[in-house]
Order: sequence, then structure tokens, then C-alpha cells
Amino acid sequence: MAVLWLDEVGKDDIDAVGGKGASLGELAGAGLPVPPAFVVTAGTYRSFIEETGIDEALFDAVDVDPDDSSALAAATAEAEDLILGTEMPDELREEILETYGNLDDGEAFVAVRSSATAEDLPDASFAGQQETFLNVTGENLVQRVKECWASLFTQRAIYYREQQGFDHRSVDIAVVVQRMVDAEKSGVMFTSHPSTGAPELIVEAAWGLGEAVVAGEVSPDNYVVDRDSHELDSVTVADKKTMCVKEPETGETTMVDVPGEKREAQVLDEDELDSLVEIGEQVEEHYGEPQDVEWAIFEGDVYMLQSRPITTIADDGGEQASVANGGDESASNDDVLLTGLGASPGIASGAVAIVGKLDQLDKVGEGDVIVTEMTTPDMVPAMKRASGIVTDEGGMTSHAAIVSRELGVPAVVGSQSATSTLSDGRQITIDGDKGTIREGEADDGERDAVEEVRPQSPVKPMTATEVKVNVSIPEAAERAAATGADGVGLLRMEHMILSTNKTPEKYIDDHGEDAYIEEIVEGVRNVAEEFYPRPVRVRTLDAPTDEFRQLEGGESEPDEHNPMLGYRGIRRSLDRPDVFVHELEAFRQLYGMGYDNVEIMLPLVNDVEDVLQAKNLMQDASIDPDKRSWGVMVETPASALRIEEMADAGIDFASFGTNDLTQYTLAVDRNNGQVADRFDELHPAVLELIGQTIESCRENDVATSICGQAGSKPQMVQFLVNEGISSISANIDAVRDVQHEVKRVEQKLVLDTVR
Ligand code: PEP
Ligand code: MG
Repeated sequence: MAVLWLDEVGKDDIDAVGGKGASLGELAGAGLPVPPAFVVTAGTYRSFIEETGIDEALFDAVDVDPDDSSALAAATAEAEDLILGTEMPDELREEILETYGNLDDGEAFVAVRSSATAEDLPDASFAGQQETFLNVTGENLVQRVKECWASLFTQRAIYYREQQGFDHRSVDIAVVVQRMVDAEKSGVMFTSHPSTGAPELIVEAAWGLGEAVVAGEVSPDNYVVDRDSHELDSVTVADKKTMCVKEPETGETTMVDVPGEKREAQVLDEDELDSLVEIGEQVEEHYGEPQDVEWAIFEGDVYMLQSRPITTIADDGGEQASVANGGDESASNDDVLLTGLGASPGIASGAVAIVGKLDQLDKVGEGDVIVTEMTTPDMVPAMKRASGIVTDEGGMTSHAAIVSRELGVPAVVGSQSATSTLSDGRQITIDGDKGTIREGEADDGERDAVEEVRPQSPVKPMTATEVKVNVSIPEAAERAAATGADGVGLLRMEHMILSTNKTPEKYIDDHGEDAYIEEIVEGVRNVAEEFYPRPVRVRTLDAPTDEFRQLEGGESEPDEHNPMLGYRGIRRSLDRPDVFVHELEAFRQLYGMGYDNVEIMLPLVNDVEDVLQAKNLMQDASIDPDKRSWGVMVETPASALRIEEMADAGIDFASFGTNDLTQYTLAVDRNNGQVADRFDELHPAVLELIGQTIESCRENDVATSICGQAGSKPQMVQFLVNEGISSISANIDAVRDVQHEVKRVEQKLVLDTVR
């Protein structure tokens, strides 16, 4: 039999009809109100792959290393091609369509849901991993069944199966075909408290079809009923902005706005709650354990769409596993969903807001956790609203890492798969020190802001070596100044331009040169004013073309094979003096306004040629290099090796950009999470270049500094102070610790000389 009706199956038939099918059959058998349905059995999937002979090729294709994301993607694509590209044998097709014909005269809209044989088993909540199609009608049914089969091999499914130790060959998939309930209201229900197991029945309810609630796209009303007294303990009525509905003709489901009067209205009345409680108790009793139930109400009748055991209740009151459908969640150490690099310290909890390239940023609400491939400059306003940031890509010096640190927002970068593993609305807790992402909310005590996480001494230690601070976004100036730093060791100018969301060339085209200059003057002035008279080292524009590409005007950026090795920093400025001249004009104006604490720093120079050309342009722009403090970043091995001739050209300072110096010395792309473990600023080769450069600079009376991320690391601080560096510039959150570390090393040096 390729197909079985629900009333022909029960809970022992998981092998034939999968977890979902068995559970629905069981419920129907127990007299619970389940919409009519049949199941295309797991055996049908088996005979499809075996009869058509694609089975071996399929299992070979998905036998990959789950941590190799490109191999995983290729495996999924090949599995899909094999399954979708192979015709369904005639007798199978006919049997499925004939059975469908017996469901409501063959005109029903049906939901087609995968029901994997390893799914919904206790301790293995595969929930949500396989495909569901709503509002399918006759002609599409066979295709949709095949798509469900193919969904057994999504990247996520392959990945989880490998992790949970399930063999791909032993996991089959059945497909449930069920009449759609055109729900007026729907939601989920936990028949006991999902983490403590207490006798409380918790119902979540929203308007329209339930898919939006299950996917966490709308915030539902919440009702808690005491199961002993049957009293309603609490009602929280949510502001329900959107709902999922079916268009009558096409059957397509769409999200629409909830009509005004219903937005803040309570979804369930007393009778409906009573029916749900009755059904909930009946289901729990039937199974002998607490259940997580999806339900819907149509024309006053309550239907059960599915039920599964709650896998989150602690057996012994200890740690909990993850909750499938949201609800009252609580984080523990066991439920780490993903790990990445802890890029900005602190612990934050919130609802996931996945931000794709084309998404509107207003979907990020106050306190949400942004989950994205990589942040872009136009996300900064949303990043300020967020309680935390998670990215798939990037390293410790990526845009996400730098900006989150300055905003004081905890961040985990380089998680590889957060955007595909997490879903909107899911409650998570991220730890920006450890780099973990966990299910649920942190305990209140854990939810400290960055400042509280790092115990800070109120006393600023006096140090001979200056301790400065890095600033990328002018909005962080106040926080940065409050650290008591001796100045700004790096102000990245590109963030002022990037935040306009236009490339420099596009900005000038649209608004004119003066407006562009004004943009820079204002950004720098904010910071220079905040720190005056302490020095502020402003770096001229340095963004790789791939960062510019995401902006308006980005289409005119050169398409580079490796932007990190390409058109950026001083190279671009010297190639486009017509644009660079505006930056220099901004400096001239700032000096004219009295900001003599502003210093000019040139990024990514290699040799004296770069320096002399830039110096000439400064002079052309009426900036007197002998009067102003200016210098270079040492970010390439070439610049470290050629520092003496640059000293001869008149630079006042050299500042180690260890993010780039490490990348170019070790040939490790700093933005590539894949090789993040090889990105080591303390590598002896990097330290040797730094040590030599400090020595040359001391001989030539050139001040030295560090403004790369490594300046915030204690071991690097020890090394640099011992080598005799003039100043260290750290991230905002690290300034106080660095001050103390510098003090400690300096005292030790003094002690060593007297001993
Ligand atoms: C560096 O390379 O260390 C640096 C500070 O510059 P950026 O990170 O902006 O390239
Ligand atoms: Mg750099």
C-alpha cells in the first residue's frame, strides 16, 4: 500500500507513516478532532528511490563532511536534482491521486507535510526541518510529495543528522496529506509547563492560520490555565500586527495586517479555552506525557493539527533541551545551538531577527538579536536598537565586530550557519565572550551590559606609555572619551562615508563636493571636540571595494578577485587624487577651526613613494606637514621593512595595524571565519616585524603606536611595553584593563632595573 488513511494507523506505525503521521493517526483513533488525512507511506519513498534506481547515487551524494559548507550545499543540490528530476512511477502517482480524489470530492485544499521516520521521537526533536506545503490542490500534489522527499536532504537536515548520529540510509520519509482547516484562529498549546513540567496548560493564540505562530512571525496572546483548579491564571494579550490568511481563489497564504479592532483584542473566549483545555488534557492522558499541540479553530470548532511530546522538560529538574515551538524557554549550558567568535563582550538575550540583503531594517525591533550573513554600514541604526549581533561570516576585525564593540552590543561573529539554523522570533542568548549562542533567555543576573561585565576600577592609573582608544563611528565618541583615554589612536574615516550609504564618488555626484567635505568635517569634529586637547588620529579613507559595493554607487566599484589585496587605503587615494583632495580639504578646514589636536594617518602604505606622494598632496591642499602631526599605519611587511626611509620623509608616527599586518604576514584572510584559528597577531613573525619597527622608530625619533585589535590583548600589551612603544590604542571596552596592564609592565621594568 502506497497510501494509508489516518484511521488505519496508530502510534506504533512510525516506520510506515513517520512521527507526524503516527501521532495524527493515534489522535484520530482516540476520538480527538483531527482534520481528515491520508499518508503517503515511507515505503513509498523507499520504493521510489529503489525502483527508479537513484538510491545509491543519492546516499553517495549526501555522504559529506557536515562542517564543509560548500560540500553540504553541493550535496543538497545533487539530492534535489535526483529526486525532483526523476519521474514518479505511474502506479504510485495514480494511487496518490485516487486517494486524494476521495478526500472532499477531490477539490480540497490540502496541507502536504513531511513526516520523517526519525522525526518527533523523544530526545530527537527534528521539528521544522522538513518541508510543509499549504493549500495544495490536485495537480500539484505529486510534485509536492516529491519536494517533501527532497527536503529530507536540506543542508540543515544533513547537518543535524550527522550531528545526532542518524544514518542517512535509515531515515525514511512519509508525507501527510491533510485537508486544510481555513483557520480563523490558531496557535500552539503546551499541556504542561514546557520547562518545569508543572501542571499548567499554556496556550498561544493568534488570528488566522497557525503557520505564522509556529514560525515565530507574530507574537501571539498567551494564556496560562491552572490544570488543578482549571482557573485562568494569566492572560497576556499581544499587539498582533499581522496574520496569515488564505486567498479564497488561489489558496495562497499571505501575511496581511490585522484589522484595527482585532489587533489588541483577546483571541480566545472562555468557551474556546475550555475546549482547548479539555482536548489538551485528553491528549496528555492518552499519551501519558505532556504534549506540544498545534491547534486551529474553524467555524467555532477546535481542530488538532499535530501533537508531539515536549522534549524540554527536565527529568530531574536539571538542564533542559531545546523547545521546538517557542514558549517559556530558559537557557542552560547544554543547549548551545551554535558557536562562533566572541567579538564584543557581554551576554544578551532576545528574539532572533534575521536580516537578509533585501530585508527592511525596520523588522529589527528594540532588543532583538540581529542575525545576518555580515553586517553592512546601513545596518548601524538597527545595530543600536539590537540587544545582540550574530553573523555567519567575518572575524574579529570585521565590520560587525568593530561596530558592535563600539556600540557596546554583545556580538558573536563567524558562526557559519546562524542565518540558516535560527529562525525569526526564536529566543536566544548570546555570549560575546565565549562566542556561544544558546536557546532561550538568560537569567536576569546574566544580562549585564558590557560595562558591568568587565569590572572596572574607577581609578585611572598613570602610565608613561599612553593608552588611547579606537573609534570608528562618531556616535561612540562620548563613550570613548569617558574611558579617560589619552586620545584617539584610530578614527576610521570610512565609517562616516559608509553611514551615508553611498560610495564617495556617488555622494559627490548626488550632493556635490562641499557636502562631502562637510560630512567628513562634521564626523571628525564630533570626536575632536569630545577629546580636545587630547590628540585624535584620523585615518584617511580605507575601505575595500567589497564594502563599497554594497552601497549606492557600488556598481561602479571595480570587481576584484581579492579586495583585501586590492584597491584600498592609500593606493586608492593616490589613484584618485580628485577624491582624496576633499579629505585633505576637510582636514584643512578642521585646522582652521582650531582643532589642532587632529592628526593625519595614512593607511596601507608600503614604502616611501606612497608617503612622498601623499605628502605632496597635503602640501597642495595647504596643509603644512612640518606643522601638523602626521604618520602612517604599518600594516604590510613592506612598510615594516621600509620604515627608516619613511622616517626620513618626515613622518611623526607609525601605528601598527595588526589586523592587516597579521593578515599580510601570515596570508590569512582576516574576514574568513574558516581560517580564524590561524589568525594570530602574536605569531613570532608578526612580533618580529613589530619589534624591529619600534627599534628603528626609536632611533629615528618617530613615535610608535598600535591601533589594531591586538592592542586590546594583554600579551600584546606586555610585548609592546617591553619593546618601548609610545602608545597603545585599545577598544572602548578594553581601555581600562589595558591601562592597568601597561602600569603593571612598566612597574616591573622599573623594578627590574633597580634589582
Ligand atoms: C588594522 O589593520 O589593524 C587596522 C586598525 O585597520 P583596519 O582594521 O581598519 O584595516
Ligand atoms: Mg588596516
